Amino acid sequence: MTSPDGATPSTPPAEGALSNRILLGLLLGAVCGVAANLLVVPRAPELVEAANRWLFVPVGQLFLRMLFMVVIPLVFSSLALGVASLGDLKRLGRIGARTMGYFVLVTACSVAIGLVLVNTLRPGEGLPQATREKLLETYRGEAASRIGTAGKAEFGPSLLVNVIPRNPVEAAAKGDMLAVIFFALMFGIGVTKLSAEKKSFWMRLLEGLADVTVVIIEFALRLAPYGVFGLIFSVTSRFGFDILKQLLLFVVTVLAGLTLLVLGVYPILLRFLAKVSPGAFLRKVRPVMVTAFSTSSSSATLPTTIEVSERDLGVPPQIAGFVLPLGATMNMNGTALFEGVACVFLAQVFGIHLSVGQQLFVILLAVLTAIGTAGVPGGSIPLLVLVLTSVGVPAEGIAVIIGVDRLLDMARTVPNVIGDATCAVYVSRKEGYDLKV
Ligand code: ASP
Repeated sequence: MTSPDGATPSTPPAEGALSNRILLGLLLGAVCGVAANLLVVPRAPELVEAANRWLFVPVGQLFLRMLFMVVIPLVFSSLALGVASLGDLKRLGRIGARTMGYFVLVTACSVAIGLVLVNTLRPGEGLPQATREKLLETYRGEAASRIGTAGKAEFGPSLLVNVIPRNPVEAAAKGDMLAVIFFALMFGIGVTKLSAEKKSFWMRLLEGLADVTVVIIEFALRLAPYGVFGLIFSVTSRFGFDILKQLLLFVVTVLAGLTLLVLGVYPILLRFLAKVSPGAFLRKVRPVMVTAFSTSSSSATLPTTIEVSERDLGVPPQIAGFVLPLGATMNMNGTALFEGVACVFLAQVFGIHLSVGQQLFVILLAVLTAIGTAGVPGGSIPLLVLVLTSVGVPAEGIAVIIGVDRLLDMARTVPNVIGDATCAVYVSRKEGYDLKV
């Protein structure tokens, strides 16, 4: 992103200090939330509920909404500008193919890792039937409302056709990111076809739009330490630790897979494909991880991912502007891993045998649904239903896992965005750019 004078944006005062304060907000929020959950909730639950309702939830939402507010203009301006500044369509095609190839392969690997873990640890087999029934009973209503109407979607040509919006404004209003992305790509390509004079007019206009979003994001980030505290406090103070005990092995399986992605798969890709230092990369993307974990949203994290990738990792703006908005919607490694594990776990819980062929099908489905998942909290739940029903696992099984989903959502969003930054570094290296890691 560039600042109004065309240089790298002026970052808010003491950037490192801000990211430390955000981390502090996260840790304090978690400690205070758990303490309130264990010490205050048993005696005076209404007190914690009132504090959440009147203070912590609104503060968290204020921060989240400031970020969500700029997602559409940010995705549109950075993608269209990215495409327009890449210039010739041959180069765009090469970068696009490399980016999409990376997304699909790494997402498929992520699901495969999840499937190996869930077939080895078999967390679903030890779950007593009584616990299963109780969870189904308790969370049936919540699961139904989270699945919503999207749960009725089916695989078919309409999924592809719907990527082209009838009306881009309507797509933006509905938060249909794939359609917004398609429009932005077409717009950027359109700009490259104009005469030099008209092209420079549109480039300056798009740059201006991107610059304004940067300014708004800087305002939002000043709120971040308090917003993150509020978000984490409201989750941890309400969290049902009992249910965590009951589903512990499932949670451990998912978290083990996600950890393997962040500390195993990405470092290998960074070292051998991108030829950069994984240690330096992981240190520099810390603010991205904290934001992803506390917001549970790849979209809300996108401004931070772009900022950190350009400023700290040295990814050139035209690559960051192209790869990262695409990745925030289409490249969800953590989500795909979670979907694979959840599907086989629920099959184990219901005593349904999934053959190797069916599990390979699960990999394909998880890759496709992860591409279509919205980068918002719980965005994958409606699409998980598609995966379950396609291999004959009852969709109502979602109720078994919904009680721990918020925690897993926070955790899976971290590899979702770190995977995007890894891809941006890889593509930049392949295009011959120097990086700062
Ligand atoms: N919360 C995830 C994200 O925004 C999506 C999901 O897995 O539900 O990246």
